[in-house]
Amino acid sequence: MEQMARRTKIIATIGPASQDGPTLRRMIEAGMDVARIGLAHGTLDEQVQKFHTVRAVAADLGRHVGIVVDLPGPKIRCAPFTDGGFELVEDTQISLGVDGSESSGDLINVDYPDLINDVQLGDTLSFADGKVILIIESREGDRLKARVLHGGKLEGRPGLHVPSDRLRLTSPTDEDLSLLDTFVELGTDMVAVSFVRSAHDIRRLGVEPAPRGPLVIAKVETKAAVQNLEGIIEASGAVMVARGDLGSEADIEELPHLQKHIIQECIALGRPAITATQMLESMVSAPTPTRAEASDIANAVFDGTSAVMLSGETAIGRDPINAVKTMATITARADEKFNYEAWAERIQALRRRSKSAAAYLRVTDALTMAAARTATETDADAIICLSRSGFTVRSVARFRPTVPLFGMTFDDRTANQLSLSWGTRPLIFDEQSTPAATAKEAVDSAARVGVVRSGDTVVVVSGSSAETHATDTLRVLRVP
Ligand code: PEP
Repeated sequence: MEQMARRTKIIATIGPASQDGPTLRRMIEAGMDVARIGLAHGTLDEQVQKFHTVRAVAADLGRHVGIVVDLPGPKIRCAPFTDGGFELVEDTQISLGVDGSESSGDLINVDYPDLINDVQLGDTLSFADGKVILIIESREGDRLKARVLHGGKLEGRPGLHVPSDRLRLTSPTDEDLSLLDTFVELGTDMVAVSFVRSAHDIRRLGVEPAPRGPLVIAKVETKAAVQNLEGIIEASGAVMVARGDLGSEADIEELPHLQKHIIQECIALGRPAITATQMLESMVSAPTPTRAEASDIANAVFDGTSAVMLSGETAIGRDPINAVKTMATITARADEKFNYEAWAERIQALRRRSKSAAAYLRVTDALTMAAARTATETDADAIICLSRSGFTVRSVARFRPTVPLFGMTFDDRTANQLSLSWGTRPLIFDEQSTPAATAKEAVDSAARVGVVRSGDTVVVVSGSSAETHATDTLRVLRVP
């Protein structure tokens, strides 16, 4: 069976298992579109080094690989477990403290001094994305006593999920803002914000709008974020369904439905959605995925996710390259089976402009819909979409056109940001003195790099003047 080119994008987290140049190179070749650098682990020097290595390898391969730095937010972590970790046994008691010493089999120390006062008796605390769950039974001085509801092994410095409405911490933290400064200076393409609760948290980042600043990805992982979803999506460039913490915050049986709901809202408002966490979890140690993982990935594609994400699988897993390859094969097959016709109809009904939409956005909205439809109805070979900020390309992508979509831009940062956009291949070309000449040069340049050929029919979407921001011109051309 011949496979169509993959359209769903892959984000892979870079960690000790994948931070060296040769591994990164093979991960990009295997299908990694975006590299994620989680700033909750390791030193700043190590993170900066990862950033430079990804940039160097991508440049060497001539590929636009986006970099997203993921801000830790008010994430609480355990002090390191001694002796290679401990197995917590169901129905036994354990203490929780904040005294700064290491964690053991009887006492878990955490790096959040207010924990003792913030949680209430009966609260459940979840460790390492739900691997271990404790229920708080009593408070004794500066310790909490908890019972193990769900046992398992804890090792390293696992994260601890406390119900977000109990925490006094807000996001972004001062540490987040300082980390952000460093990576904005370095020119990061995207930034992911953890534990967002409202659009205000996104605005507090204070970054320039993309592409001058990084594309902001809101991680939806708190109840408040689900309640304030529309505002958060409107304030962000993309959204991540952060299933690890969201699955601890919400009842687990709600998680699949929240995933569908968040993705649908993103599509309605024209923002890429990322589905994240435990997508190939078993491949941290196994060479093949579980059957449930393969189905989960395909179902996320059918839900309309723009990208899928690997976390521990590539950061600390036994074979990051194999994890990316497996993800690429499963998504490519799901892309092939995707019901494009039903999707296009659904989106036409679903799409919604943001409340603040300016008139030019209404033009772009209508024209990008027409472009996707024209490409299908004329059986075109490609859509060539010219875009300064990437917005128009993302608008076309939400209709899931079946033909190849080229996001053509003059700006390297925009091209890197488009690495996240469903089905989009970013290409750089040179702006000309008039909009018509620029559109012609885009087609010529696509032909020069061999992505379209002489005689191909292409749908070209562009703006007619630099003054109006609208994407208002649709042409169907034959490549000379
Ligand atoms: C998540 O909670 O699913 C997530 C992606 O966040 P992190 O991996 O940063 O905890």
